[in-house]
Amino acid sequence: MTETSYRCGFVAIVGRPNVGKSTLMNHLIGQKISITSKKAQTTRHRVTGIHTSDHSQFVFVDTPGFQTFHGGALNETLNKSVKDTLGSVDCVMFVLEAKRFTPADREVMALLPKHIPVMLVVNKVDKAKDKLELANFIDDVRAEFPFVDAEVVSAKHGQRIAELLEKIAPYLPESVPLYPEDMITDKSQRFLAAEIVREKLFRYLGEELPYSMNVEVEQFEVDGALYRIHIAILVDKEGQKPIVIGKGGEKLKKISTEARLDMEALFDTKVYLEVWVKVKSGWADDVRFLKEFGL
Ligand code: GDP
Ligand code: MG
Repeated sequence: MTETSYRCGFVAIVGRPNVGKSTLMNHLIGQKISITSKKAQTTRHRVTGIHTSDHSQFVFVDTPGFQTFHGGALNETLNKSVKDTLGSVDCVMFVLEAKRFTPADREVMALLPKHIPVMLVVNKVDKAKDKLELANFIDDVRAEFPFVDAEVVSAKHGQRIAELLEKIAPYLPESVPLYPEDMITDKSQRFLAAEIVREKLFRYLGEELPYSMNVEVEQFEVDGALYRIHIAILVDKEGQKPIVIGKGGEKLKKISTEARLDMEALFDTKVYLEVWVKVKSGWADDVRFLKEFGL
């Protein structure tokens, strides 16, 4: 009997903020493919991206905690959720910036599982011209943790992504593909639109404020080749509004322009985006509360 040994497994991408995880993910799944929202066949993990080739399917999963961990120390709850996720995937990619190994990197490294293959991924090699220095850097990092292998990439320039996938494939278990081959995520476009705005808030508002904010998609309308998206940023207090809006509306404009460009690239279509800031009303929260309890 001839059986092709197809491989399929779950891969977590971890690393401190700004090492290039999101950029890498976009290149790993190829962001130009339009997103389908078919229901996943498994609920084992929260899937963020899927890459399917002739011989393997890589299912990249969310590590709750890493989306909101922006500087500062990881707290205990975060630690636990990171460890839980990392303990249940088939393989982990630990991402570093070339020639930068900071205390925050070390903190993330301390959470890496010992019983699951962890691949060292050194990103931003376009910034590291000296090959010998780079090789020494990799040796130094590898001396600190039993990585199964290491690969250098430039996520931004899409370099060595295929090589990285090739190196990871052997660590996936033999399995039939778990998802349809044209599926690249199980998140809806609506959800992704909110995520993009949330990401900009973290990028432009320092570290603490965005935790207390909600991002709500109030309208998501497909009008031919144009998406009309309305998003509200909900803050706790009136006094927080100017922080988000900025002088002369500058900050909000930057947030919404960058979010729109990301959405256009991800959805591969024109986007008309409106973003505004509202104060959460206690009344609205009460209604939601009542709904949750079926009253
Ligand atoms: P994340 O916080 O780990 O998800 O990091 P991002 O993917 O958001 O990237 C952080 C910054 O690094 C962005 O400005 C990226 O454009 C930049 N970046 C990502 N990959 C590379 C790379 O390969 N080379 C260079 N020079 N910059 C990169
Ligand atoms: Mg990111």
